[in-house]
Amino acid sequence: MDASNFQQRGILVALSSPSGAGKTTLTRRLLEHSPNFMLSVSVTTRSPRPGEGEGRDYYFKSRETFEKMKEADDFLEWAKVFGNYYGTLQQPVMAALEEGRDVLFDIDWQGTQQLTQKMGEDMISIFILPPSMGELEQRLYRRSQDEESTILDRMSKAVGEISHWAEYDYVLVNEDLDKTLHKILAIIQAEKLKKSRQLGLETFVKGLMEFV
Ligand code: 5GP
Repeated sequence: MDASNFQQRGILVALSSPSGAGKTTLTRRLLEHSPNFMLSVSVTTRSPRPGEGEGRDYYFKSRETFEKMKEADDFLEWAKVFGNYYGTLQQPVMAALEEGRDVLFDIDWQGTQQLTQKMGEDMISIFILPPSMGELEQRLYRRSQDEESTILDRMSKAVGEISHWAEYDYVLVNEDLDKTLHKILAIIQAEKLKKSRQLGLETFVKGLMEFV
């Protein structure tokens, strides 16, 4: 038996970046690669972009419904981002943790701060940086799902988002998607091998020491 056979405590991973740094693609690839991961689908008051699906990318709600959900304590965290409200649902995250699953959050720095405070050592945070601001702008235009004025707005807000880089456990510059994905997988693998996350390790070691 090696350590990887121990039952492991679920891990919560917050992935943040300015829009256009590749976070959505990385999230998708990570989920394809790691079936034990569940994506936390947030609630938002912003309108769906072309191609986005209800319950897959977000739960799209009115401001009024969002307020009601907030009052009902439905959110683990919530924040106002670019003039819209976004919130992480409490119930699915707790259910996933109980099942021993891992949860991935695509949330901003405000949400990461709140989750880090609430979820303590179950939580790790990763910040993705673009290789340059020029590259970030190009990616936003290539994606071109937003109005030009929104792109300019997102560029200026990117600087604000980037200013929170030092609050994260890990910071990666996304020059190459495959390489960045492998780095994220390596971080998760190492985090899972921390002794506090390997349930049953203590009993196993005690058993080894009974040899003499
Ligand atoms: P977008 O509108 O481009 O999908 O997301 C805008 C920003 O809101 C992104 O940085 C995204 O990570 C963040 N975001 C999405 N869902 C949540 C959430 O539930 N909570 C918080 N705090 N931020 C979120």
